[in-house]
Amino acid sequence: MEKKSFNAFEMAKKQFDSAAEMLELDEATRDLLRTPMKEFHFSIPITMDDGSKKVFRGFRCIHNDARGPAKGGIRFHPQETIDTVRALSMWMTWKTSVADIPLGGGKGGVICDPHNLTKREQEQICRGWVRQIYKNVGPFTDIPAPDVMTNPQHMLWMLDEYEIITGKKQPGFITGKPVGMGGSLGRTEATGYGVIITIREALKKLSLKAKDTTMSIQGFGNVSQYAIELYTQMGGKVICVSCWDQKDEKSFSFKKESGVNLTELKNITDQFGGIDKARAKELGYDILDGDQWLFQEVDILIPAAIENQITEENVENISSKVKIIAEGANGPTTPEADKIIESKDIFLIPDFLANAGGVICSYFEQVQCNMNYFWTKDEVLGKLDQKMTYAFNSVYQFSTKNSMTMRVSANIMAIEKVVDACKARGWV
Ligand code: NAD
Repeated sequence: MEKKSFNAFEMAKKQFDSAAEMLELDEATRDLLRTPMKEFHFSIPITMDDGSKKVFRGFRCIHNDARGPAKGGIRFHPQETIDTVRALSMWMTWKTSVADIPLGGGKGGVICDPHNLTKREQEQICRGWVRQIYKNVGPFTDIPAPDVMTNPQHMLWMLDEYEIITGKKQPGFITGKPVGMGGSLGRTEATGYGVIITIREALKKLSLKAKDTTMSIQGFGNVSQYAIELYTQMGGKVICVSCWDQKDEKSFSFKKESGVNLTELKNITDQFGGIDKARAKELGYDILDGDQWLFQEVDILIPAAIENQITEENVENISSKVKIIAEGANGPTTPEADKIIESKDIFLIPDFLANAGGVICSYFEQVQCNMNYFWTKDEVLGKLDQKMTYAFNSVYQFSTKNSMTMRVSANIMAIEKVVDACKARGWV
């Protein structure tokens, strides 16, 4: 989150307003869907390892639950804001709708930096978050999940606290848990694989083969690593990845023209997706400035780090060779940059379609937990492929039929479904 003036919620509202105009929504419906229906702000007091006390700020927003219980991750980030959480909760509503799963949109966060917290302190924050909000979350109301800088261990601590408080085993309360502790096989891979499934379908529409294409990716965390894995299995070549360097407080791009090696890079990457520069250099990578991943002469770009990364300032420098941008991250492209991407004739797969694999698999995890019967990895990934392919093709058909971009089409389709649910319930 380097670019401080950016406000994700303003961007999400702008996107919603333009879809609302197209759908000619009435005033009450716009009022309902423009902001979260509920939001919670709370303090989480923690005893630090040195015995001192510290208070962290936590949030949870439920944007809309007309289609089912809210669903969405919890972020740990030093620059977390309520507006980011509001925007992400709104995007979750559209994402669950476009993915056609019976859930609504929620999101949560804590202002903290896990880089500077011990394991015990992180556990206290997880348990404290649940203590403050347990009455308003749960398997039938709002189901949290991991997001940036939270992981399966955090989810398990949260589940444990929830079960202690409620006195019941309720593994469906939260998703993204470790496999064997209520987690679903395939969940770790789901978002990155899902992004590549949408790219695979887009390549078919453009009459291209993965093996003839190259890619550059921003981020080297969960989404990015699994996207690289599946894309390289399909024969594609990734030539550049970028990540955040915690020590230098800036990002860097790591380039290898012959193709990055996922295993060797993973071996020199920390738990937060930060690559060791010195060791990468020894392995023959060129270390470039952070933005350089975006300017590579490749066929496919995937922003898979954080929001507000493709902006008016850098979009013009995208190579004319680029044919597809698939948004692995949420909100990586500003509306201004979006227009320029459209004028460059780049096929853009919008965030809440491209990265829907995570929530689809989270939904599978919840279903498995509620039945207490777990599927094989192949079964999970097969169902994921089916859902992603169907969602992509529905949006694609709508976009060609109505001569609209994939983003506008996905927005319209998703919002319309939520509006119908709100109206059917008599809310507006
Ligand atoms: P992660 O924490 O595992 O990895 C994030 C990566 O981005 C790290 O490599 C980090 O170094 C890098 N990064 C952070 N800031 C950067 C910057 N300014 N420039 C370059 N690199 C930077 O996170 P993740 O789970 O891979 O999520 C990435 C994005 O995808 C987020 O926007 C998240 O909301 C979205 N997303 C994730 C999931 C999921 O299942 N993990 C699902 C849907 C959407």
